[in-house]
Amino acid sequence: MRKLTYLGHSAFYIEKDWDGVLIDPFITGNPLANFDYKQKRISHILVTHAHLDHLGDAIAISKHSGAPIIAVVELAHYCLEKGAKAIGINIGGKLNLPWGSVKFLPAIHSSSNPDLPYGGVAASLLIDIEGTVIYHAGDTSLMSDFSLIGELYNPYYAILPIGGFYTMDIFDAATAAKMLYAPEIIPMHYNTFSNIKADVQKFADLIEAQGQKCLPLKVNEYVEL
Ligand code: ZN
Repeated sequence: MRKLTYLGHSAFYIEKDWDGVLIDPFITGNPLANFDYKQKRISHILVTHAHLDHLGDAIAISKHSGAPIIAVVELAHYCLEKGAKAIGINIGGKLNLPWGSVKFLPAIHSSSNPDLPYGGVAASLLIDIEGTVIYHAGDTSLMSDFSLIGELYNPYYAILPIGGFYTMDIFDAATAAKMLYAPEIIPMHYNTFSNIKADVQKFADLIEAQGQKCLPLKVNEYVEL
């Protein structure tokens, strides 16, 4: 069985046989998260950009599990310097993995943290798990690239930030969902902090009105892929 579990904010955990894949593992300091990575199998850690609510615990998890962090080269280099395992990739590039592949695609956002003034550019992720295609948009503005991504890669699940302020709000994210043309939409990056509060029911209504399905996962809730 393959499961995609929401860990809060932009963090997700994908389990498949012996493999476990973490995305943007912001656990420590995340008021919504309740995930003990030491009890889980983790083979790869995907990080969209260097902001601490996305890089999160990635370095500690890599050191504990031995799993490589897969990130844009500048950020990957930083993780290596901190003693983690890391694989540096760049926008447009694809990495084949035992369970499928991950392709790094554009996001309109920045990428840095207090310890890393320039983390390369921010990315979104196209993740293929044995033919099930998941698009994780990272942090981003609405962008015309969504149409191309939808047309070329046919994601089944689109995971989109809806909290506004740092990213798209519910209205921009609903437009993004339409452009991506994914059957099932999972909202993220909302309600973690007071400045990214979002009306997830209103978002779900917008998505359903477009003929798409909205899956507003609660923390630690999962979908079977
Ligand atoms: Zn960010």
